Amino acid sequence: MNDFIYRGNELYCEEVSLADLAKKVGTPFYAYSAATLRNHFKAFDQAFAEVPHVICFAVKANSNLAVLNLFAKEGGGADIVSGGELFRALKAGVDPKKIVYAGVGKKREEIEAALKAGVMMFNIESVQEMEAINDVAGSLGVKAPVALRVNPDVDPKTHPYVSTGLKKSKFGVPIDRAVEFYKAATDLPHIEVVGIHKHIGSQLTEVGPFVDALEKIVALVKDLRDSGINIKYLDVGGGLGITYKEEEPPHPRDLAAAIIPLVKDLGCTLVFEPGRVLVGNAGALVTKTLYLKKGEEKSFVVVDAAMNDLARPSLYGSYHECRPVQKRNGGRFMADVVGPICESGDFLAKDRDMEEPAPGDILAFMSAGAYGFTMSSNYNSRPRVAEILISKDRYFVIKERETLDDLIRGEHIPDNY
Ligand SMILES: *Cc1c(COP(=O)(O)O)cnc(C)c1O
Repeated sequence: MNDFIYRGNELYCEEVSLADLAKKVGTPFYAYSAATLRNHFKAFDQAFAEVPHVICFAVKANSNLAVLNLFAKEGGGADIVSGGELFRALKAGVDPKKIVYAGVGKKREEIEAALKAGVMMFNIESVQEMEAINDVAGSLGVKAPVALRVNPDVDPKTHPYVSTGLKKSKFGVPIDRAVEFYKAATDLPHIEVVGIHKHIGSQLTEVGPFVDALEKIVALVKDLRDSGINIKYLDVGGGLGITYKEEEPPHPRDLAAAIIPLVKDLGCTLVFEPGRVLVGNAGALVTKTLYLKKGEEKSFVVVDAAMNDLARPSLYGSYHECRPVQKRNGGRFMADVVGPICESGDFLAKDRDMEEPAPGDILAFMSAGAYGFTMSSNYNSRPRVAEILISKDRYFVIKERETLDDLIRGEHIPDNY
């Protein structure tokens, strides 16, 4: 369910025509629907209404301040993985008490900033990190609230790059050593154990792996209680998938039905870290057709967006539906949609059966609200695109298109070298 819909032959986001918007703000740009963002948050929140829970949006999926602020207003928190994301979350008005901080490589200055902000907890990924956090907390004269990220060794059955809970993964501590690590944590004077965390991967399209992982974690929580270690927060991570093409991922309700029975008697507050499922289908990358190259072997649609703007097709071979913003109802052909970047890996769609566009036609790459703008770069010295939030018949530029001067900001040619 989302708010990108055709009215006649024209694609709208809520009540705004994307063709009109392209004229006003230029292309390419990311368009997000405020209504879809809110509806996705509410659907998740309501699914777990019967158990105490906090929804910490995974900032890395879409870190625009306006998006973070929208979720904060709905009562959401943030799942962060860097000092930069902490900075953003605080700027956006996220309650620090609803911020969880994960990541295998937290630096001392980042730890210090998070302690000063008063985050809900650090999701610790190693013994050395735990010692570093203890140390920094000691120097500030505080106790750091922590959860241990436990690696349950469950196959999430997703793309290997976004699979994070197998034994060979760099994330978390192995589940069979978790009790030992928890005991070590309780010996540290500036650490307060408050929770347990797992996150097994992204774009999961079945509830099975969530259940398998959670069963292991619940057993561990009981063992920990037997050892006198109390677990207040049970952070089940993120990872719920979305429909890009034909996937049929579980609805948050299905996830709730599968996991609430496992946890409802534990008395823990559940923490969720959804990213993609909240924002993915709330966004599209809107781009303009520059040229058609029709060849004997292959045809190409050259557009003004590229792999630097939306990396997922090149990076993971991901599929994003490509829609004409104004349908021509004309002939179809098979083509690759490619950007201007000097790499053969620069494509947004491969061998796509699509309506043949003309130069100047606007196309929308759907389901681009997650890991779209946040993964973009300036490769080939391309200014990063604008981000636009749409709400009913209004639109807001929530991130300006970068200028050429932005490209060289901070660069210096040294004197006399
Ligand atoms: C990336 C990530 C998430 C969000 O994953 P989604 O698949 O976008 O829901 C949640 N928690 C952690 C620790 C992550 O690294």
